[in-house]
Amino acid sequence: MRKLLLAAALTLSGCGAESDFERPVLEKTPVFVEVETCTGLNAYQPVVNYIANSDWPYGQNSALYTSDGIIYINSMFADQVKLLKHEYVHHLLQVNYGDLDPGHLNELFGQCGYAS
Ligand SMILES: [Zn+2]
Repeated sequence: MRKLLLAAALTLSGCGAESDFERPVLEKTPVFVEVETCTGLNAYQPVVNYIANSDWPYGQNSALYTSDGIIYINSMFADQVKLLKHEYVHHLLQVNYGDLDPGHLNELFGQCGYAS
């Protein structure tokens, strides 16, 4: 049931041009700053949500980035920093170029965020 509610909430938040989602202003984390420096791109610090594997609704993906600046990490995976760097590259591409590059074609994934 919890999985269904989360999926429904995500669907609702993703539709419509006018969103009342108020983005929190977060202090940049050291890992995010490291990826900014590596890529040469800057953006606001995205929200990072850690979700237990038992509640994880995204199948085999170990992490997920949504274009409104939210990252979901499956807390089961040991190398959280590796996952974070990868999702941060998606975020920096989205904010700077309007394309999160779901196919991982940008070389910055290999250079700064681990190719997937
Ligand atoms: Zn990816």
